[in-house]
This record gives sequence, structure tokens and C-alpha cells, in this order.
Amino acid sequence: MIKTLLLTATLIAMSQTAPAESPIAIAIHGGAGTIERGNLSPAQEEAIRSALTEAIEAGHAVLHSGGSSLDAVTEAVRILEDAPQFNAGRGAVLTHEGEVELDASIMDGATLEAGAVASAQGIRHPIDAARAVMTDSPHVMLVSAGANAFARAAGLEFKDPEWFITEFRAEQLRAVQARQDASVQLSEDWFSTVGAVALDRDGNLAAATSTGGMTNKRWGRVGDSPIIGAGTFADNRSCAVSATGHGEFFIRHVVAYDICARMRHAGASLAESADAVVHGVLVEAGADGGVIAIDALGNIAMQFNTQGMYRAAIGSDGQLSVAIYGDD
Ligand code: ASP
Repeated sequence: MIKTLLLTATLIAMSQTAPAESPIAIAIHGGAGTIERGNLSPAQEEAIRSALTEAIEAGHAVLHSGGSSLDAVTEAVRILEDAPQFNAGRGAVLTHEGEVELDASIMDGATLEAGAVASAQGIRHPIDAARAVMTDSPHVMLVSAGANAFARAAGLEFKDPEWFITEFRAEQLRAVQARQDASVQLSEDWFSTVGAVALDRDGNLAAATSTGGMTNKRWGRVGDSPIIGAGTFADNRSCAVSATGHGEFFIRHVVAYDICARMRHAGASLAESADAVVHGVLVEAGADGGVIAIDALGNIAMQFNTQGMYRAAIGSDGQLSVAIYGDD
């Protein structure tokens, strides 16, 4: 009897003192926009869901094995850059001249270090180039020929220009150019930039975003995706955010930073901050798009003011969710 009581008391004491395992969680997006049921064929929808699943599971596996949030977001974004369905890496949208110009950025919430490339060409994984800028250079952003030269010197993989171009994007460019007058420069139908945010076991947050920008862009146009604070931001004291949408608005409203700043300085929750910016600030400005965001507790917000956003998450409870439309 006494033995049993002692054992029970010991077990209770152990369960009270045993440190709870720190949460890990990850979310990804593949863009937001006019994504309605019926716009995608069953085969397209299946390909998108399976690419999202592959990317989120790969990112989560990094976290699960004790890897860093930086490695997890890099891994997830690399997979989405290779998936031709999304506007990043292979399958990126085309410029006015029919070329691919790639933007990417990454940020470490533990140190506030960040790296970005803009208007880069030929780099298979622009997110690797952004990361190399962060870790192997004293700079935050490199552009165009300089970014390409830096990526070559860093030993990153390059592909021929044709490797990046899909028939779908070529047709999209033809359609946009046929319907637009000279004063309208960009296609705003939908955005399929990719991004990831994650929390690792050490409590560190990271965010990454990669894109080809907007269809028919010209004159070296660069959107929010490679701009730290606009399309990407991470700070352990608040949250990590990756955005997608009409970049000019996201730059003006410093969207990713604003969401984190509301948490840090105004005490808002992650959901409140994301909601206020996506459904308040951006809607008032007339801007379409969405964000994925994560905080230091592993809470995830995936908010968009468009019909849909390609997205997936594995929360701190280990539950996988993959969704496209407003209602799944
Ligand atoms: N935000 C990107 C840009 O403006 C586009 C996107 O989200 O697809 O370049």
C-alpha cells in the first residue's frame, strides 16, 4: 500500500516537473487570388495539393528531427520552387519580354539577419541565393547581374532560361498582353508566389518567400517578396510572416513588419494582427492578397482577402491541413 502511494506520488511529481516538449510548427503558401472551384481541373488541383503536401511534410520533417526553422523554410520553399504549378523557380511568370526574373528573401527571427535577391536569372533555387546573401555576404539584398554572379561564386545550381518557362506561363503572358492597354502593366488575376514560416524546437522563428513577381512586369519591376518587412519578416519577439499579393501595396503598407509590430508593440495576438492587416489595411487600400504567419507559441494564421490561397500547415498538435479555397 505504502509502496503504491509512493510510486503514485513519484509519478505525479515526475509529470509535473518533466519539461513539456517545445512546440514545432510550420505553414506554407503557394499564392492567393481568384482561385474558385471550377477554375482548376481535378488534375491541376491534385498536382497542387500534392506539391503542397510534399513541401509541408519535408519542412516539418526538418523541424521534427531537431533542425532549425531556417532549414525548414528553405527546404519547403525549394520544393515549391521546383513545382511548375507555382510562380517561383521553374514555372515562374514571364516578364513583358518573355523572360523569367526571380525574387526571393529569407529572415532569421533569432538574429534578425536576412538575405534577398531580386531580378535574378538562371538560379534554380533563388531561396538558396537569398540564404547565401544572408550567411556569406555582409549585405541584405543583391540584384540582377550582381545577384547572379554572387550565386555562381557561391556554387549554386544554374539552369538554362528555357528550363524555367512553362507553356502555361507563356500562354498567360500572351493572354495578358492581348487584353491589356499600354497603361496597365501587370496581371492581377492571381498570385502564386510561394512562402514558408516555421517555429523550431529552440523557439526560433524563420520566414522565406520566393517568386517570379507579376506577369508582364517590365523595367526591372520588383515587388514585395524580396523586400524585408514587406513580403517577409521574422522576429522571435513577435512572429514570422510570408506574404503574397499585389506587391506594390504590400511594400507601401510594410505588411509583414506591420503584423509583427502590432504583436510586439500593441500586444495584439497573431490572429488579431494578421486579420487587421489583411482584412483592414489591405482591403482599405484596395489590395488583394494574403499572408501566412506563425508566433513563438506555434500559433498559425493563414489569412487572405481573395477567394482562395494555396496553403498548408502542420500545427504544434501535429495535424496536417492542406487547403485551396476559402472553405478548404
Ligand atoms: N507579391 C508578388 C509580387 O508582387 C506576387 C505574388 O504574390 O504572387 O511580386
